[in-house]
Formats: sequence, C-alpha cells, structure tokens
Amino acid sequence: MTERIFNFSAGPAVLPLPVLEEAQRNLLSLPGAGMSVLEISHRSKTFDEIILGAEADIRKLARIPDNYRVLFLQGGASLQFSMVPMNLLPQNGSADYIITGAWSKKALKEAQRVGQVKVAATTEPDNFNRVPRSEEITLDPSAVYLHFTTNNTIFGTEWNREPDAGGAPLIADASSDIFSRPIDVSKYALIYAGAQKNLAPAGLTLVILRDDLLPRIPKGLHTMLDYNTHAKERSLYNTPPVFAIYIMRLVLSWLIEQGGLEEMERRNQAKAGLLYDAIDSSGFYRGHALPDSRSLMNITFRLPSEELEKQFVNEATKAGFDGLKGHRSVGGCRASIYNAFPREGVEALTSFMKEFQRTHG
Ligand SMILES: *Cc1c(COP(=O)(O)O)cnc(C)c1O
Repeated sequence: MTERIFNFSAGPAVLPLPVLEEAQRNLLSLPGAGMSVLEISHRSKTFDEIILGAEADIRKLARIPDNYRVLFLQGGASLQFSMVPMNLLPQNGSADYIITGAWSKKALKEAQRVGQVKVAATTEPDNFNRVPRSEEITLDPSAVYLHFTTNNTIFGTEWNREPDAGGAPLIADASSDIFSRPIDVSKYALIYAGAQKNLAPAGLTLVILRDDLLPRIPKGLHTMLDYNTHAKERSLYNTPPVFAIYIMRLVLSWLIEQGGLEEMERRNQAKAGLLYDAIDSSGFYRGHALPDSRSLMNITFRLPSEELEKQFVNEATKAGFDGLKGHRSVGGCRASIYNAFPREGVEALTSFMKEFQRTHG
C-alpha cells in the first residue's frame, strides 16, 4: 500500500507531503553529516543548525518579539497543564481559567493540584458548542494569569480573537491551531502547543514565553519542570526529540515557502468554508459549534441519527477518508483539516457528503 489516503485525524495528523519526501530522501544520510538524523548527537554541529534554524523560522513566521524565549520541550501539552501552574502560580496567588472543553478542564485539574484557581467562565452547560462572550467572563482582578484554550479540538470551537485578560498575563494552550493564522505574540505571556497537530510528529512541545516570567519562578522546582532550566540551556539540558525537531524545521520552511501565516489563514478559511457551507446548505448534516465560534481546524457535525453516523464513518473509511469519527463526548463526526491538509481532500469529502445524503437521506 503506497497510495496516501485523506487523513482527517485530530492528531497526530497529516504532514506536508514535500516534508515527508525530503525526510525520506535524507533519512539514510543527512547532507553533510554522513549519517541519519535519527543517529546524530544532539550536541553535534548538525543538530545545532537544525534547532537554531527551527527557532529562527518560528521567530520569523510569528514575528516573535526579542523578549520572548522559544523552548522545545517534551511531555506534550499535557505536561504544560502542570508546568504552567508549578512555575507561575505562587502559593499566595490565584489563577483564572476559561473552560471551553475537555482540554481546558484537564488544564484546570492540574492547576487545582498546585494552588488556588478560579473558573472565569465555562460553556459546559451548552456542551461546549461555543466560546464565552466577553460579558460572560468574570476576571479576578488579582489573578496571576488567565489561561484559555485557543482552539477546542474535540468540540470544534475556536476563539476569533483572544479574550481580554484585564492586564493579567495571558496564557494559551494553542495545541490545535498554532500557526494556522497570524498571532500577535505580544498579547501573551506564554503560549504552548503539543506539536503533533499542526507542526511536527508527536513527541515535541513548543513553548513561547516572555522573559520577565523567568525570574518569578519559584526556586526548588524539579530541574526538568523548571522553565528556567530549558531557557538557560536552550532546550538542550537533556536529550531533546531530535527527529521531531528536524521535521518541525522542515514544516516551518514549508510554511514560510507557502506564504506564511497570512496565507495559511486564507487557505484555512477557504477549506473550512467549503465544509461549513456543505453542512449548512444540506438540511441533513448539522454543525455542533455555533457559527460565531466555529473552528477552522476541527469541523464537528452530526447526522440525523447515530445509525447514519456509523454508516457514514464506515463508508467514508472505505472511500479513503480516514479519521472522521467524532470524539465520544460530542458524538457524530469530526473532520480535522490542519495546515497540511490539502484542499482537494476537503472538496472530495464535500462530494462524498452530498452523495451519502442522496443515497441515505
Ligand atoms: C491534543 C491536545 C492536547 C493534548 O496534547 P498532548 O500533546 O497529547 O499532551 C492539549 N490541548 C489541546 C487543545 C489539544 O488539542
């Protein structure tokens, strides 16, 4: 089996084909190194160029101001649920969390183990079919930070613009929409993202944090859990995920070549638009997210019955559309269409949806 099917998986997810091809070409011997990237030392000059190049491309792509650090960590976004409060929620402080889905709830749970936390808003009563309106958010004026999830991978909702933190440092889990559109990093104190959705294979977590947070971190944290360790050692305190960073570097070059984040936003809006139009005009499919909260990355939708949903997913899989089954907490279907997901795949899915409705509707 050499043919590539359309991969709608929520993560790990589709990578750009030219990136995979380049990695394949150079897998046995990286030009100039005489060995595979899977075999090189993380202390080698070759890897130094890779990780420095990745950082430079991230800075260029997202126009990251000089007073921010870029860290390449492990443990996924899930470890950041703990590291954020361990580093930034002091014993006498309280942090605000906006709850817009399963991942925000997990972040909240870890923060509650560390210190005092307040829920500034939650859309759980609406089964997370939207993000809160600004008047629904109650900020604690003395909060040490406000945490939110930029894109809710499971429910298919996304913030159009960041919530107003009222002057508190803003912290975002951007795992599922990082670099899918321009981002004004200067509005954030810290951004983290598991890389396996939009940037790289699994095993790598990107953290972008403002310098002034570093001296506030309490002394005595475990070395590996302290942002200062990784900032000081340029993410090389221990062995980093060399291969994942190498692939991320290729993805970043691809993003720059394609026209950067403005172009990604344009394409992502067009791709998601095709699917939402297909849903809205069908009278058969029904979107889970309310229109003003719709995600450009994860499109969640239902069919008239669970029976039809099962059939839809089965037939779609047979037709070469993989990963469309929705998360059990929403049910139905979910099409994840990250940066690297091709427009042709979205067009093919909308045709499939029309045909399925014609034969089963
Ligand atoms: C996938 C995901 C996570 C979990 O990431 P891991 O890297 O598996 O820990 C957290 N937050 C969001 C928004 C996600 O989409």
